[in-house]
Amino acid sequence: DAKRSGGNVARFYTREMNDAVCQRVAIESGLRQAIAREELSLHFQPQLSIATGALVGCEALLRWRDGEGHCVPPDRFIPVAEASGQILPIGEWVVGRALDHIAAWRAEGLAPPRVAINVSARQLVQPGFAAMVLAALAQRALPAEVLEVEVTESIFLHPEAAALGELRLLHRRGIRLALDDFGTGYSSLSYLGVLPFDTLKIDRSFVANVDAPDDARGDAILKATIAMSRAFDMQVVAEGVERPSQLAALQTLSCDVCQGYLFSPPLAAEAFADRCLAIKPTQNIAPTGEPQ
Ligand code: C2E
Ligand code: MG
Ligand code: MG
Ligand code: MG
Repeated sequence: DAKRSGGNVARFYTREMNDAVCQRVAIESGLRQAIAREELSLHFQPQLSIATGALVGCEALLRWRDGEGHCVPPDRFIPVAEASGQILPIGEWVVGRALDHIAAWRAEGLAPPRVAINVSARQLVQPGFAAMVLAALAQRALPAEVLEVEVTESIFLHPEAAALGELRLLHRRGIRLALDDFGTGYSSLSYLGVLPFDTLKIDRSFVANVDAPDDARGDAILKATIAMSRAFDMQVVAEGVERPSQLAALQTLSCDVCQGYLFSPPLAAEAFADRCLAIKPTQNIAPTGEPQ
């Protein structure tokens, strides 16, 4: 690119590129204080069994309200944090905070299901990721089953033995592994033989049309993906379920678990506890059907 080719590069930059560069710089500098200023938080989105409606898990999603009070979406700041290396302290904060919430819920007599956290490839090539997670669990006397680690296919783009080793170690200690956004990346089925994934999350782009009447190809992709997941003994989670008709179609395909605005958007910890954890075991969470 222009930057790397050196010389008089300024003339190659358009106005838009400058804006993009400024934005990255602003995000990077804002993130530097984000942990200390307590600008980060985790929201939790429920995952429900399609067969029974029971809460089987939840996903922790990072939220950043910057110094000016603006919520910066993760898709904007996570890539910057990955490039700058800030994802390392931030990722460690996510692990600690997720486990703190689980411990607090358990202390209140609630029974939180397992919590899935998102982990970037950048965090896994740093030696000691697994040790950090295991120490964080031990510190709070929490069992490994409370945690699931979500990675995307991007970790296989430049697969580093060390990163795979960290994930295998976590799995041996009882932490579940999930393959996130399945189908959107550099999809190769060989990944599934490389790591013992417990969960496969079908990207919402495949779920978007599941209720379309004449989408034979889309249906075939989902059917094949679900059949393959069964063969590997993986639980299948559909992401981005927004409509009852999508839920019905996923049920017909015998998909296991669904996550999406149909049931709930990601919620602040307290709202998640009130709405999803503090319900009687016989009660199921009913779809609200409210668009978000
Ligand atoms: P993801 O892991 O695939 O998370 C699912 C995203 O889909 C979340 O976006 C969630 O809010 C959104 N979503 C859930 N249900 C629906 C739905 O029904 N419809 C639609 N349209 N969207 C839905 P969010 O929270 O903005 O996060 C975006 C991405 O940022 C995540 O995608 C994940 O890749 C990344 N991310 C979030 N938190 C963390 C984190 O703690 N660490 C790392 N490394 N990445 C994170
Ligand atoms: Mg995820
Ligand atoms: Mg996803
Ligand atoms: Mg994603």
